[in-house]
Amino acid sequence: MKEVRLTEKKKEALAQLGIEKSSDVLEYFPYRYETIEDAPYSSWEINSKVVVEGIVTSKPSIYRFGRNKSVINFVITTEDNTFKVAVFNQIWYLKQEVGKRIVVIGKYEGNGKILATSIINDSLENVLGIKPVYSLKDKVKPKYFSQLIAKVLEENRDEIHSFIPMSLREENHLLSRYAALKDIHFPRSSSSLQKAIKTMKYEEFFKFQCFMSYRKQINRLFDDRYAKKIDEKKLNEMIGDLPFSLTNDQQNVVNEIVNDLKSNYQMGRLLQGDVGSGKTIVSFIAMYATYLAGQQACLMAPTEILAKQHFNNIQRVFNGYNLRIELLYSGVPNIQRKQILQDIKNGHIDFVVGTHALFQQDVEFHNLGLIITDEQHRFGVKQRQLLQDKGNNPDILLMSATPIPRTLATSLYGDMDVSTISETPNKGKVIHTKLLKKNSFIPVIDEIEKLLDEGNQMYVVCATIEKSTEVLARNVNDIYNNLNDYFKGKYKLGLLHGQMDEEQKDAVQSAFSNHEIDILVTTTVVEVGVDVKNANIMVIYDANRFGLSQLHQLRGRIGRGSKEGYCYLLTNSVEEDAIERLNIIVENNDGFEISYRDLQLRGPGDILGYRQSGLPTFRLGNVVEDNELLQKTRLDALKILKDLDNPENTRVKEYLQEIQENAHYYLD
Ligand code: ADP
Ligand code: MG
Repeated sequence: MKEVRLTEKKKEALAQLGIEKSSDVLEYFPYRYETIEDAPYSSWEINSKVVVEGIVTSKPSIYRFGRNKSVINFVITTEDNTFKVAVFNQIWYLKQEVGKRIVVIGKYEGNGKILATSIINDSLENVLGIKPVYSLKDKVKPKYFSQLIAKVLEENRDEIHSFIPMSLREENHLLSRYAALKDIHFPRSSSSLQKAIKTMKYEEFFKFQCFMSYRKQINRLFDDRYAKKIDEKKLNEMIGDLPFSLTNDQQNVVNEIVNDLKSNYQMGRLLQGDVGSGKTIVSFIAMYATYLAGQQACLMAPTEILAKQHFNNIQRVFNGYNLRIELLYSGVPNIQRKQILQDIKNGHIDFVVGTHALFQQDVEFHNLGLIITDEQHRFGVKQRQLLQDKGNNPDILLMSATPIPRTLATSLYGDMDVSTISETPNKGKVIHTKLLKKNSFIPVIDEIEKLLDEGNQMYVVCATIEKSTEVLARNVNDIYNNLNDYFKGKYKLGLLHGQMDEEQKDAVQSAFSNHEIDILVTTTVVEVGVDVKNANIMVIYDANRFGLSQLHQLRGRIGRGSKEGYCYLLTNSVEEDAIERLNIIVENNDGFEISYRDLQLRGPGDILGYRQSGLPTFRLGNVVEDNELLQKTRLDALKILKDLDNPENTRVKEYLQEIQENAHYYLD
């Protein structure tokens, strides 16, 4: 695209808005639109917004008051009426000449008086209509910005190519890219604007879908060496030895996974299920199936606490199976680590459980057949690809506790197959959740003491570790001290956060597991996976600082045993949005519903949401509200991928080739 010549100053001002090239100008979309409508004088109401064209019939006069304040008054005459116009603090309007034709936009105050907000030297015809409103800074005025866009559009008329192939544009009633951009910035009518917005949303979704489907295609190479030979009789014996029987959903997922393992393609499967739905045991079964096929398996968790917990569990499940299982994380002493690495390499170790430490360069497997990552919602597309590239194309199973409805999951994880566990083994378990609009649980202290006295344990979660001037939130250290003072030894307290050293963390964690501690004051280090069955109370300070899915995860730490759970969300916030979000948690206990509402509430470009869930965010489209379009683009993308040599689809083909060459750039 051609670049517009700009002064250094303007360049700088635009760069502050993130605009560096012509294409950035065009893709700097309005954040809302304003409709300026012409209504006949007879319908004007007091305080309504009005717009009127007339001739200046009195010389403007100015009255100054206060410091730097002023009001300018003059009269305009239309065909049938005369209006007194007042405009505050815009002295440049003093220069209006008598006899000039102008348009006044403002508020009608009754008695023929208009309080003007702007005065335009143009005809009414040009002023009326839908006007874009941009989020700009002082040094880039709306009028200048509009002119800049017009110029870029004009000069690049022949350079703006549609990414969406013609056949799809026709089928979906979309505009060319040029026409869509033009209407987004200079809407002619509400219907043309809607069409333009739909076109740009479609383009955004379609590009994503092409990318995801293409990834699936290139990752799915058929080769007999991927096919594992599994002794299914032994596998079923192992399942039969478990202290419980699998739920139907668990069994179905196990079948899906075993089929993938036996197949001659690399498995790329996402297993999603609510907190407590029993994903862990499914992953152990998959690991055992891999072992039965003579290969190694590893399980990666996002935190050390969780990795250790999985390690303890897997050892218990396979006690007496003559398997060698090891734990690997950054804190493993060097000598021990060296030995483990050597044994992984020569194939003496069957299962490795660990953190990201598993994926350091020096970890080499003898014959790695399966990689499982738990709590996948913390990772994005890039991490997925890094896993898939590891070693000899092992099968990949990702587990996520941010479950979303099936159709949505298929669209958003188009690069994977999706398995879902909908039922939980402890169905019907109640977790009572209360919202306290105060950052203190004193109002419910009696209730909490009673639960503690009945032998329940409690988590107290804070957003921060230390006091800070930047973040006004309760911190674990202060709360720990306050509670110690308050309870005066009546309950035993523990402190757990990410900055403590290993040994301390382990000691506190196991003391809490063994009920040597009643109250654990902690941060989100306990967010994922932690399983202490007797902990049934949770207090979350500054709950408004956490995302919806994160709160649901945290709350998933309680009510895991036979008793009901009690969760208290504390907040000082008075913002309506924040309260509304928290009420979603109070009213819902279903992870599917909560992540769905989360996606719905999320504005485009919500970076926080992205980090929390590993789900993609779109600039224009909302995956819930525009779900139909999202589904349609997926089908359309699949169609185009099958027909890439058609000249009409050249742009898609080029884009995909570029992705393949610069995979890591695109995945960032
Ligand atoms: P999540 O899906 O959140 O990772 P877990 O795998 O930690 O859930 O399982 C939650 C609890 O349910 C664990 O204590 C696990 O032992 C238990 N569990 C799993 N499957 C079953 C089942 N089929 N019947 C009874 N309990 C089960
Ligand atoms: Mg889990």
